[in-house]
Amino acid sequence: MAIATVNPTTGEIVQRFQALTATEINHKLAIAQAAFQQYRLTSFAQRRQWLENAALILEQDAEKFATIMTLEMGKTKKSAIAEAEKCALVCRYYAEHGEQFLANEYAETQAIKSYVSYQPLGVILAVMPWNFPFWQVFRFAAPALMAGNGAVLKHASNVPQCALAVAEIFTQAGVPEGVFQTLLIDASQVEQVITDPRIKAATLTGSEPAGASLARLAGQEIKPTLLELGGSDPFIVLPSADLEEAVAVGTVARTMNNGQSCIAAKRFILHEAIAQTFLTKFQAQFANLKVGDPMAPDTDIGPLATAEILRDIVNQVDRAIASGARVLVGGQPLESPGYFYPPTILTDIPPGAAILQEELFGPVAMVFIVKNIDQAIALANDIPFGLGASAWTKDLAEQERLIRDLEAGAVFINALVKSDPRLPFGGIKRSGYGRELGISGIRAFVNAKTVSVN
Ligand code: NAP
Repeated sequence: MAIATVNPTTGEIVQRFQALTATEINHKLAIAQAAFQQYRLTSFAQRRQWLENAALILEQDAEKFATIMTLEMGKTKKSAIAEAEKCALVCRYYAEHGEQFLANEYAETQAIKSYVSYQPLGVILAVMPWNFPFWQVFRFAAPALMAGNGAVLKHASNVPQCALAVAEIFTQAGVPEGVFQTLLIDASQVEQVITDPRIKAATLTGSEPAGASLARLAGQEIKPTLLELGGSDPFIVLPSADLEEAVAVGTVARTMNNGQSCIAAKRFILHEAIAQTFLTKFQAQFANLKVGDPMAPDTDIGPLATAEILRDIVNQVDRAIASGARVLVGGQPLESPGYFYPPTILTDIPPGAAILQEELFGPVAMVFIVKNIDQAIALANDIPFGLGASAWTKDLAEQERLIRDLEAGAVFINALVKSDPRLPFGGIKRSGYGRELGISGIRAFVNAKTVSVN
């Protein structure tokens, strides 16, 4: 994909960017390696200050950063401001806790002293998606930099201005030159970077093919990877749930970020006792959402990020309808410039339809009706993914059952699945491996060095 800012609200090409040449990449990796050798010797107190500076910049200029995000990928400006503010939170979280998370861990042995010392690995490659163009980068970068690592970012080709803005934030915050660099490169150039001996590990958030490709290359080089891939999270509603709240939260959980979130609720699994009531309210809420200019403060749903994403979602819904699915609301792209698709609800999807095993990256909810909790769990787990799961019930025994049996990296009871700097985040099955955030996030890219002094 060409590196360019294309406004998804209008389809207009705003600015094109030239990809780096192989020689330029090589030069930047040399800078990264030299910068890391100095940076790894800096103190936690110094890194803490730099992250706190970054947090302040994110808050003070949230409006400016939000405008770039909305221009490049179409999320509503109000959600983009919230994203910039959440990035400040993750910087502060690791500024405050990073040193303690990486403190030496002592063990009693026959030696004078023995312990584990957590040390940085080196320069880490981060390959990131466009859907949360600031947050995905900061949730990796804040712990990585606090741990003393360097980083090079290959961001998605449709968010180059976001990629450059993030690097600029770290520079302004005082992080030494070369420690965090954006590489404007296309996907085919990732191979040169990950196979370069100066790169010690990689993290990728994105699709399965991209994750598999990067992990294969890294595997040949015996380099660790962390993968945050796609999901098709279930949203299970059982009879004792607070239905008003479940409907309101379910609507947000499916449509936030214009429906383009890995942890969006994508499959609504309803107990037959409450299914009709839930669906009537759910349909009304979907129909009420305002689709339009993402810069406008009253817009709920902006455009999809690219023409390709719109093509994919149209194709998936059309295939589902052809196989016998019924459309309750939405179901057709808007006839306007830009990449707009309305909030859509699909029911009666026949068993075996391909869409059942796919991720829907747009504001389209699939609804299923089940007779009991066993069927709900079986259906929830009948998918290659295992990212998050949201389940609604006041019954404590049912809650325990769901927590134990849902195949997912996270289970949220009576709430939507969301990431939080204080809690680990990641998936199982084809949703990836490894954990970001929390203590796990900062331990993802460190050498747990065993030390024995005798
Ligand atoms: P994508 O096509 O995989 O792109 C993600 C990043 O990978 C981009 O920087 C892309 O660069 C790069 N890339 C693509 N193919 C590659 C390859 N063969 N080798 C190396 N890098 C490659 O993903 P997307 O469609 O933009 O993003 C949506 C996907 O991300 C969804 O599946 C979503 O669920 C997932 N996601 C997961 C999480 C999570 O935390 N689990 C969070 C957000 C999104 P180009 O742009 O240049 O192609």
